[in-house]
Amino acid sequence: MAVTVFRGGRFLLPEGVRTGMALVVRDGRIEAVVPEAEAPEGEVVDAAGQWISPGFIDMHVHGGWGHDFLDGTVEAYLVPAREHALHGTTTMTPSLATASFSDYQRAVRAYREALPLNKEGAQFAGIHFEGPYFALSKAGAQDPAWLKRPVPEEYLPLLEAFPETVRVSAAPELEGAMGLGEELRRRGIVAAVAHTDASCATCEEAFMHGYSLMTHFYCAMSTVAKRGYSRYAGAVEAGYLQDFDIEVIADGVHLPIDLLRLVYRIKGADRVALCTDAIRATGLPDGEYIQGSLENGIKFVVDGGVALRPDRGGLAGSVATTDRLVRTMARAAGLVDAVRMMTATPARILGLSRKGRLAPGCDADIVLFDDDVRVSRVYIAGQAI
Ligand SMILES: [Zn+2]
Repeated sequence: MAVTVFRGGRFLLPEGVRTGMALVVRDGRIEAVVPEAEAPEGEVVDAAGQWISPGFIDMHVHGGWGHDFLDGTVEAYLVPAREHALHGTTTMTPSLATASFSDYQRAVRAYREALPLNKEGAQFAGIHFEGPYFALSKAGAQDPAWLKRPVPEEYLPLLEAFPETVRVSAAPELEGAMGLGEELRRRGIVAAVAHTDASCATCEEAFMHGYSLMTHFYCAMSTVAKRGYSRYAGAVEAGYLQDFDIEVIADGVHLPIDLLRLVYRIKGADRVALCTDAIRATGLPDGEYIQGSLENGIKFVVDGGVALRPDRGGLAGSVATTDRLVRTMARAAGLVDAVRMMTATPARILGLSRKGRLAPGCDADIVLFDDDVRVSRVYIAGQAI
């Protein structure tokens, strides 16, 4: 069987940065990481001057290059998977924003058709439903027409119909949301707090009822507010007080560097995952676009590389790619921990035991980049993209 040997660069290994090593890939898996002198014969990838990193894992992404996964076409999966891969993403969980049940059905059908055809793109690791159980006051760019309360009569058949669900984002203050959290935990699905106006206490209660993650931390989420003479803590503070995992859109637009530093300092690299929340307009010029499906979505604009709601009153997802997230987060946390937040931490949150690390037995998902995180080569299961 073909053996590939990566050598010459700086390896980002679980135990730290190492040089003078060789990483041996066989049959799409990492077989060994050994001193260079002990490397077996094989096709050599010379990574001199490059960082050798695990592939990036994007656990919140809606599409890009003109496509939204909600479009419900095979192309809408294959094109963003391929393009995001060129920026270093080797695994993604396609995220579906709030939409009608029929839009969801169409999108999941396309996901199933795309799976076996996705030969040169980031691998799909299940679907993230970002909605429809959100607070109207924190809808952000979610279509308010489809927002609702979680009732078991509706979400149980939905979870049965879509077994590829790996994550659901919901607002815990809604009636029925605690029961939803417990049901998701029972099924091994990640329950995430999102688009919420909940108090700190409600979010802490949600943590006890199965919610373990906070979706795009700080964005569309309650925080310290003054009512009368007193101040009240919100979801953000619960994120700090409890052992929630945190997801941040580290594009430098949604959160400034000082907030990224704060998140990193309080939560640490093992609790923070970077995500793009990338939308249709990613990779395309400024202009007007549709969020959600082309048929039933809502309008937004991209101006100066920033995605905004049409009234320009708020952000509408991002046009970021994973390499940009690592580059930005490196300014707040250093490169090694920035990479960790783009690889090992999202892998652990999603339960992907063979991903996110350059270690024997793991999938050979490997990214090479320079000191400015300009990606030069990407390998998925050992295959050059
Ligand atoms: Zn999103």
